Amino acid sequence: MESRLLCCPGCGGPITLHSPATIFVNCLFCKNTLLFDKDWKVFGKVAELPPEITPLQVGTNGTFLNEVLTIIGRRRMRWTDGYWTEWYASFSKGKGAWIAEAQGLWMIAYPVETEMSRGEFEALTVASSVKAAGKQFAVNDIKIAKCLGSEGELPVISSPNEELKSIDASNTNGDFLSLESGQDEHGKSRVSAYVGRYVAFGDFHFKNLRHLDGW
Ligand SMILES: [Zn+2]
Repeated sequence: MESRLLCCPGCGGPITLHSPATIFVNCLFCKNTLLFDKDWKVFGKVAELPPEITPLQVGTNGTFLNEVLTIIGRRRMRWTDGYWTEWYASFSKGKGAWIAEAQGLWMIAYPVETEMSRGEFEALTVASSVKAAGKQFAVNDIKIAKCLGSEGELPVISSPNEELKSIDASNTNGDFLSLESGQDEHGKSRVSAYVGRYVAFGDFHFKNLRHLDGW
């Protein structure tokens, strides 16, 4: 994994970037969030996030399917019925993925290309059928979520109060699809798609975990 050094446009502090996909990062020195849109710019203020009740932290590394990974960021989301956290992992071969825990199950989701327009996305309802990454899925859940804040480096804008629509779909092979509305770094509306599966925590062979009583 090749890292590069960024000079914070807010305070001049050094920020090490670990992923070529990073467009959003927090500065630890001036507590600004920075967005890359042709150049790095100050985007807003960092929202302090509470610690997670998981052993993961930014800096945790591991191996998944024989590829080295490092957790480089997280974002915390809220919806009407609760909260969830997504961890962004950078892989040694340059590809990134989201890792999340839900009700004790772990999942990994990789970004995939999608041709879906915002109109097609908005027209989806529960049980709609969707195709992504050459696979067929059925929608099981649609919710509106708000980003509460982020830490570290992320490939998406993750500013506090950024609202998005999140659509979950799955198929009988155990794959799931996550679709998300949002905007790209130029402020243009876009639909992001991620395809993933459930995995066992042990499959990640994590090291440098946060100490947590009971784990
Ligand atoms: Zn700064």
